[in-house]
Formats: sequence, C-alpha cells, structure tokens
Amino acid sequence: MRYVDEYRDPQIAHALADKVHRINTRPWVLMEVCGGQTHTLMRYGIGDLLPKNVELVHGPGCPVCVTPLELIDQALHIAALPDVTFTSYGDMLRVPGSHADLFAARAEGADVRIVYSPMDALKIAREHPERRVVFFGVGFETTAPANAMAVFQARREGLTNFSMLASHVLVPPAMRLILESPVNRVQGFIGPGHVCTIMGFSEYQKLVEEFHVPIVVGGFEPVDLLEAISMLVAQLEEGRAEVENQYSRSVEFAGNLPAQQIMREVFEVADRKWRGIGEIPNSGLRLRDEFADYDAERVFGVAPLSVEEPRECISALVLQGIKKPIECEAFGTRCNPMNPLGAPMVSSEGACAAWYQYKRYA
Ligand code: SF4
Repeated sequence: MRYVDEYRDPQIAHALADKVHRINTRPWVLMEVCGGQTHTLMRYGIGDLLPKNVELVHGPGCPVCVTPLELIDQALHIAALPDVTFTSYGDMLRVPGSHADLFAARAEGADVRIVYSPMDALKIAREHPERRVVFFGVGFETTAPANAMAVFQARREGLTNFSMLASHVLVPPAMRLILESPVNRVQGFIGPGHVCTIMGFSEYQKLVEEFHVPIVVGGFEPVDLLEAISMLVAQLEEGRAEVENQYSRSVEFAGNLPAQQIMREVFEVADRKWRGIGEIPNSGLRLRDEFADYDAERVFGVAPLSVEEPRECISALVLQGIKKPIECEAFGTRCNPMNPLGAPMVSSEGACAAWYQYKRYA
C-alpha cells in the first residue's frame, strides 16, 4: 500500500491544510465535479481542515446520479421484454425511475444481470444468440472508450443480438452551465482526475479564459485534494486563473489519444438531459448513425419519455453549489439512501448521499 499511503499521510495532509490557512485572506467557493472526489472530501472531513473562508460545494459529478429518470424508465421497458437479457453495472440497478428500479424488474422475472464491463455483456451475447442482450452504458468520458470498444467489437464480430442503451455525459458543458448561471457562487474548480486521464485538460482552457476561473485537475486521495485546493486558493489569492495539473501521475495535457479516437469513431456529441438539472446543450454522447443497429433506443424503438422530478427535491440547487443537501427539507427524513427522492441521494458518490453518510450530525 506504499503508493496509496503517501497520499493519505496525515502529516502531509495537515501541512497542506496549514498552507491554505497561511495564504487565505478572503472567502472562496470551490467545487469538484467528480463523485469519487466528493466521496473522499466528505469521508476524510477535508472541509473541516480548511479555513472557514474556504467553502467546498459539490457539483454534478456522479454519473449514476445524473442519469435521467426517463432513461431508467426506458431501461425498465426494455428489460421487461421476454427475449431480452438486460446487463448493467450493479449501482445502476437500484437507481429509481419514475415508478421502480431494475432490481424490482428482476424480482418480477426480468432477466437483469450485473456485469463488470461491457465486454462481459458481449460475452453473454456470443454465448446466447437466442437472447437480445442490452448493456446499460452510463457514465462520464471515463467509461465511454470501453463502451465504444464493446460496440465496435460487436460490429466487427457481426453480432446481431447485442445493443447498448447509452447515456454518456460530458463534464465541461456542465461546468459551463454552472458558470453561466446568474446565481453562480463557484470561483474555482477541482478538475475531475479520471475524466482528464482520458480527455486531458486542453478543453478546460476555454472555460478558464472565458470566465476567469481557475481549474486544478486533482486526484482522489486526501493529499491530492488538499494539494489541489491549496493550488486553487493560491491562484485566487494572487488573482490568477489558469489550468494546473495536480494529478500529473495520471493525467497528461492531451489525455489518452487512442481512447479519444475510439470514442469519436463510435459516439457523437449530442444534447443530454441531466437528472436534477435538465437539458444541457452538447453535454452528452450518443451512438453515431453508422452504429444504429447497436443503439438500444433505436433497436427497441423506445419513445423519448418525459418524467417530472419530485417537487420537493432541490437537487438542481445542490448540484450547482447554491444550496447544501442539509438545507433540503426532505434530507435524511423523506429522502435517504434507502429511499432516495432525488439524484444526489442515489449513489454513495452523490452529494446528498455523501452528506448523509458522513455529515448527517454535523
Ligand atoms: S436530500 Fe434528497 S430530496 Fe433533497 S436535494 Fe438531496 S436528493 Fe433531492
């Protein structure tokens, strides 16, 4: 564990927090847009180590949480068909649609299976030509290359019983939406390390220049995040706005070019609805027309649905850093991880679920 331990070293962490105390003179609001980072920040109580002036808010960085209700309803519709084997990562099975989740569908007899990669779903399709196998391809830029590879491989093998219900979302358009809001409070971003491992960080330059907002690409361990925070606070205090890379052991400027290539070959940029936020232009990926035979939405002809979010859920405000989860009247009572009303309570990486787990009594 040597490699991980050094990024969890309490002495280094406290030295970085002390540095933030030394350089901080004014109030700043910082946001991460990555569920893994949200989880680490809450789990290690990093906000409690910082000066009161430095406020951490949590953006729409959990891919499970931002998957729209409509898509879950489409998944439920497809999974209920008698010749369909519906495959998904385990965390998607308990995401509620408008009336049920995929676990409930399985309990009612649907063939819903947990897989660990899209390639597992492809294997099921090869071994069971009599079944129509669907993979639920959800996530940020991080998981898009593997999903693209599965579709590409299915076509190369001539598999006709495999398709993907795909809903990928892209981080920079969500950051832009937050920055363009007239009530925006965010003054600096911790960039998402996993996403940037694939995409690099060249596309963040535009946001920095347009909005004069510093962005520091950060890792996932407490020391990574404290270092990213100290770099952000230093930039803000000095009046600088630049893209910096704290997570250089994994992220390079241009990112992973072969991964980007396969993504571009299979997917194209499209408008996407984000649960709790609404539609964001050019914020997602959909399968290109050349791969229509592998697009579950088109294969099964599932009509676009429109479903209302529960009224009392203020997740749009939470995910833009305007309100804290604890300011929601349903938090911890009518809404909890066992019975999530809204997107950020769905997965442990969601802002409301992380607050529930680590800060409920704060
Ligand atoms: S606590 Fe629940 S209802 Fe309130 S904002 Fe979070 S997810 Fe929505």
